[in-house]
Amino acid sequence: MTDVVEKKYAQVLVDINKLGTKTFSYLIPDELKEEIKVGQSVLVPFGRRKDGLKAYVVGFSNYLEEGIKAKYITEIIEANPLFSLEYLKLLDWVANYYYCDIQTVLNTALPQKFFEKNVKKYRKPKKENEIYKIDKEEKSENNLSDEQRKVYEEIKKVNAKTSLLYGITGSGKTEIYFKLIEDTIKKNKNVIFLAPEIALVSQLTIRTLERFGADSVAIWHSSITEAEKYETWKKLRNNEIKILFGARSAIFAPIRDLGLIIIDEEHESSYKQTMPSPRYNAKEVAKKLCELYDAKLILGSATPSIESYYEAINTNSLFELKTRYNCAKLPKVSVVDMKVERAERNYTPFSRTLINQTKEAVEKGHQVIFLINRRGFSSYTQCMECGEVLMCEKCAIPLIFHSQTNSYKCHYCNFELTGEIKCPKCNSEALENFGMGSQKVEIMAKEIFSDYRIERLDSDSLSKKNEHIEILKRFQNGEIDILIGTQMIAKGLDNKNVTLVGVINADLSFNLPDYRSSERGFSILTQVAGRSGRGDDEGKVIFQTYNSSNVFLKDAQKQDYEGFYENEIHLRELLDYPPFSNMIRIVLSSKNEFRAEKSAAEIELHLSDYLKKLSLDEAILVLGPVECVLKKIREEYRYNIIIKNKLSEKGHRAILRFLKTIHLPDDIKMVVDINPSDIL
Ligand SMILES: [Zn+2]
Ligand SMILES: [Zn+2]
Repeated sequence: MTDVVEKKYAQVLVDINKLGTKTFSYLIPDELKEEIKVGQSVLVPFGRRKDGLKAYVVGFSNYLEEGIKAKYITEIIEANPLFSLEYLKLLDWVANYYYCDIQTVLNTALPQKFFEKNVKKYRKPKKENEIYKIDKEEKSENNLSDEQRKVYEEIKKVNAKTSLLYGITGSGKTEIYFKLIEDTIKKNKNVIFLAPEIALVSQLTIRTLERFGADSVAIWHSSITEAEKYETWKKLRNNEIKILFGARSAIFAPIRDLGLIIIDEEHESSYKQTMPSPRYNAKEVAKKLCELYDAKLILGSATPSIESYYEAINTNSLFELKTRYNCAKLPKVSVVDMKVERAERNYTPFSRTLINQTKEAVEKGHQVIFLINRRGFSSYTQCMECGEVLMCEKCAIPLIFHSQTNSYKCHYCNFELTGEIKCPKCNSEALENFGMGSQKVEIMAKEIFSDYRIERLDSDSLSKKNEHIEILKRFQNGEIDILIGTQMIAKGLDNKNVTLVGVINADLSFNLPDYRSSERGFSILTQVAGRSGRGDDEGKVIFQTYNSSNVFLKDAQKQDYEGFYENEIHLRELLDYPPFSNMIRIVLSSKNEFRAEKSAAEIELHLSDYLKKLSLDEAILVLGPVECVLKKIREEYRYNIIIKNKLSEKGHRAILRFLKTIHLPDDIKMVVDINPSDIL
């Protein structure tokens, strides 16, 4: 009795006039009842289209809602299903968990070529190989060090579904990944290997292709064409590909016989999709996928996210690599107090130490990296006497200055400081707002180091992908002396000739209006420090700061992850932040500011009432509403409600049930973001 549902009707998915995918019901002719399966493509009559429309079977039923008259499916186009029932289950889970409809998920997951009637023959693009030849001199090492071997053996034995491989920068995590991939392939299972988008143009791709051969590896990320995606999709369904290497969206590829998922640099926020919906996190989806396929998940990082590290400790699935491969030393990190520079009338963004050491390095023929850690939007207020940053005491995030109201606001809980504000620590009035405007750094650098070759690499210019690859190539070839860049240069650059890294304003990293700002600050500083001294010459790193007593900065200076973790996990527990809760962000927006604010206030009120009635109000906390940090985007005013859910799944379900009862007028939009990566 496997087929409980009689196959009378098939639900099929069609794509009409780019309106997005929709499902419709069709009658199944008797002669097709035996062979029709989920995932097959079929031909259906549709509207006035005489030749019919291509559609995909996504489910069966034996009744229809009243008033609907179904037509018959014409024929099965491809007998080999292009996706499986498990796959649809995964997409259904994504739709539920991230509070969006299945159509939205399907639109993200399926290549658009699926819905074109005649898919043109796929031609290999010429450019492709160029990208992956940045630095080919290094051949992959096949031999594991004693430490690597030990960790590899332990990971193989562990029972937990998810393991965390925590290895300092340059400790050789990749070799362990490769061994685990080989083992999986030997068992006739396949692998998904995820890396942050930017790492896809790095050596990791080259090494993976070299090691496993271009025939068994497929590459999947946002800049491959729909035709390539479609071609890869078909190969995956035919089980012709062993390893799918890609960015976050590769998690939706229909790989068969999944045995292993690896997520490298798991702490990266780029695994989370913020725009558009579905606002999924590839890490969470990967966990679900491993559950459905009984596969293993390996998370790797030199600076694991607090949540992953906490989980690993509590499930005995933490594996550590503590030494750099080939015994390379970690670089020496020093902290320079910019208050002293200022007192001695150096008003440039560069301390005298950094200027001298840069000159020294370049004169020796070495290369230098300057990190300007600007991140989309950031603004905070700092005391120039003692370095203290104005914070919300309840939320531990920096307050943001609002010039219109002359006040300082917390964008989680709406706490506000007004009037004459003094430093809460030393009572000084010398408060200064820090924000954007770091483009100055490049101009100043070109003045001070006028004889050197200086280039700037900015994440804003990601659209010009080839240009950024060009700059990286030239840097790798030694044609650039000083590379200035934002956080993207902190990741994956492996240039043995870099002996100095200068972080222009280390405080910026720690002062984002987000509970994760310490984690991100620690991570970015550790990662960028790891770019220095990868060759024979010892590396140096300089952190410039106005707040040299910041404990997290000290942890980063010592590159002491455990120390950082201990400091941070206590704070998270105290303030009910993840991993002790899940966060949900609800954004209400409208062209009418009053109505946006009012609807947010009403929803907050109803939600609080609802939780009180269920006696869940102590386990699910509701903050706000408060205007968003970016209050107005595209003519719309935006208000935030932040939920901290301490009841995991049970709480999540209760909140989703509440959200489904909301009916909003047309002029008000609502966005729900589960575990958001920011609250801007
Ligand atoms: Zn002060
Ligand atoms: Zn607050």
